[in-house]
Amino acid sequence: MRGMKIIILFWITLFFLLTGNSATEAQPQPQPQQQELRFSAEKAYEHAQYLTDKIGPRPAGSKGEEKAAQYIYYILEQAGWKVKEQPFSKVVVQHNPLEPENNLQVINSRNIIAELPGQNPETVILGAHYDSADTSAPGALDNASGVGVLLEVAKVLASSSQQESYQLIFFGAEEAGLVGSEYFVTQADLSAVRWMVNLDMVGTPLEIDVAGKTSAPPELVKQVANVVKNESIPFHLSRDFLVMTREGSQGGNSDFSPFLDRGIPAVGFGISGRPNGFYHRPEDLMGGVSLQEIDQIGQLILVMLKSVHPSSIGSQTWDTSYLTFQLGSQVFILSSLGLRILFLLVFFFTGYLFIRLFRGKYRTNSSAWIKYFIGALTMTALSLVVVGLSGVGELLWQKLKGVEILWYAHPDLFILSRLIFILCLVFLAVGIIRKIPFAQSSNFYWLVATGSMLLVTTFLALYRLDLAFPFLFWLLCLDLLYLWPNIILALGAPYFIYHIHWELLNSQQWVSFYEIAHRYVLIFILLYAGLLLPVLFSVLFCVLRKPKFIKPILKATRLPIIIFLVADLLFLGLVPSYSQTYPQILRIQKEWTGNETAQYHMSSSDFIPNDLAKELGQVHSKNIYFPAQGDKPPMNLEGVIQDKGGRSFSLTLKMNYVREPYRVKIKIRSPHSFRITQIDDFLPMSKLPRKVKLEGIEKSGQYELILERTPPHKSILQASIEGEGKIQVTVEVIFADLKPSLTLEKHNLSIDYLESYRSEFEF
Ligand SMILES: [Zn+2]
Repeated sequence: MRGMKIIILFWITLFFLLTGNSATEAQPQPQPQQQELRFSAEKAYEHAQYLTDKIGPRPAGSKGEEKAAQYIYYILEQAGWKVKEQPFSKVVVQHNPLEPENNLQVINSRNIIAELPGQNPETVILGAHYDSADTSAPGALDNASGVGVLLEVAKVLASSSQQESYQLIFFGAEEAGLVGSEYFVTQADLSAVRWMVNLDMVGTPLEIDVAGKTSAPPELVKQVANVVKNESIPFHLSRDFLVMTREGSQGGNSDFSPFLDRGIPAVGFGISGRPNGFYHRPEDLMGGVSLQEIDQIGQLILVMLKSVHPSSIGSQTWDTSYLTFQLGSQVFILSSLGLRILFLLVFFFTGYLFIRLFRGKYRTNSSAWIKYFIGALTMTALSLVVVGLSGVGELLWQKLKGVEILWYAHPDLFILSRLIFILCLVFLAVGIIRKIPFAQSSNFYWLVATGSMLLVTTFLALYRLDLAFPFLFWLLCLDLLYLWPNIILALGAPYFIYHIHWELLNSQQWVSFYEIAHRYVLIFILLYAGLLLPVLFSVLFCVLRKPKFIKPILKATRLPIIIFLVADLLFLGLVPSYSQTYPQILRIQKEWTGNETAQYHMSSSDFIPNDLAKELGQVHSKNIYFPAQGDKPPMNLEGVIQDKGGRSFSLTLKMNYVREPYRVKIKIRSPHSFRITQIDDFLPMSKLPRKVKLEGIEKSGQYELILERTPPHKSILQASIEGEGKIQVTVEVIFADLKPSLTLEKHNLSIDYLESYRSEFEF
């Protein structure tokens, strides 16, 4: 036991040695200049209120976005900044790795850029996006809050002479995929820019986003964390401990990310934790923005601009594979060199244990190997069954309650319940497996668990060191387990699995993760069974190594575990799917198809609440249709396809809008391959990203191409298509329904009111 203590002490000491450059030393803070105006939270709040209440939803390209741009322009000019507009139009390719399709969107918007020259040309950029997510999202927290704070910061900065030069950028079309900031970094001369900070959904506890697609310089992370700590503002560092990257479909979650990609040190400020159900919804109103928090963030920004020294951030290239650990308000950074040393040490340690194992009593013959092999197969099958069974509670309550999903409001409870369920099953299963004669070699189980973890860690480390760290941690747990067979240590891994989901659970990424997991159930069962296997092996290893100690525990806990398991199942039934803060999303769309009369289409990704369906005299389902009153359609359409001979067709669409549409979607389909050879400025071909072609791609036997456009719109579209006969064109136009004739007042529902016009024709 003494040797054990020494080993643990060694690792703890090593950790602190490697993370030696922790962010503890305070930075000197210069006194603010006297003549400077003070930051007024009330004024910042008023700006946000104007954008939210007076202007309302501001999706990219909309009239609302344009009005917001004018307002920001006016305020900045009043404050004495040199302001200019940067309009842009960009073709964005919608990526969906699961269902390949050719979906091209034209996004039109503008950035508002303001400049304040200082005594030296070194420039600091402050940014915030002013668009909102959707036609029905007023975007108070996301991101009128950030814009309000920045407009007020602008006033303060302009009220006295500044050392550094400042640039404020109010980005358009952030919600359409960081379009404004991506455009800005490709156009601007960034040579004088020292660093950048972006505000997106401000409040406390503060989220300091230090990783987009790439990570911020460690020196900047340290300095910023220091300032926030000194201001006594609670915060969370986004790259904390186990889940370190935002790489993937989201690719950096706000406008600071494109700056990092270009080698500009940048961080993002947002609100930490999973955004409530109002995020990107009609309920994102000023009631969710706190004056006190606006004040804290505003003061913080001003202190930070004085205390973070551009010259001390260092060069334009930096270590990107470091790890951050946060303990309360203390931030530790493990550099990639430290990380490498740690990897080597753990690998050597594992190798040493392997040698020790094979030099020792581990002698065996071929018939024993067959037994071990069968044992391992049994365990694999078992882990698959256990992971598969963990969904039983969910299925049970789905049937009983008649709702499809039970996770929305409380995903953490839902994961915890599954984990408890799995652990109970593991304990029960190990009790049974232990009795089977082939499963008696503890060392074999340790060897398989550690060997597989070593392989996974090595492969990941070769790919990306920081991604491999959680597995290195797991490998270290297994190493310690060999020296100290302890069931608590063996269960370090389930805790680790839970922790790795932390950021997922507390971000909007959870929604897409859940949807993908449910669409590809089998793949996910395989994946999670793979994660469970080392845990199973470790538990079995402990049981076989210390039978005298653990056998009685297994026996005594059998009944309590069964009771706990049943209780866990019942508990899951109490978890509400929706709540007032995480309401069910419902869409009520008044639909016109061609010249037919309109109908209402009520839809949700989950079943529409039973009482609501009954009220409308409909059966319980996800889609409900019922007739609408006889309004005039918001537009009409004439579409013509002409055969020009020689596989060439011309397409003409004449759209007569009664109201300003929001989104126009044109889907072209054909059983044969086709491509567009010419098109007017509905989708300018000169703006197409390289490698992207205007052609149909195959999807379940049909070739398909989708062209989408946000405003401003033209009423005529002309295109030439090259292809073979039978071409089908579907036009779908979405309008915001600002004065819906049918409204619902229901608890736990968040409703989008839309109108749509759809027309289909073929040649
Ligand atoms: Zn935002």
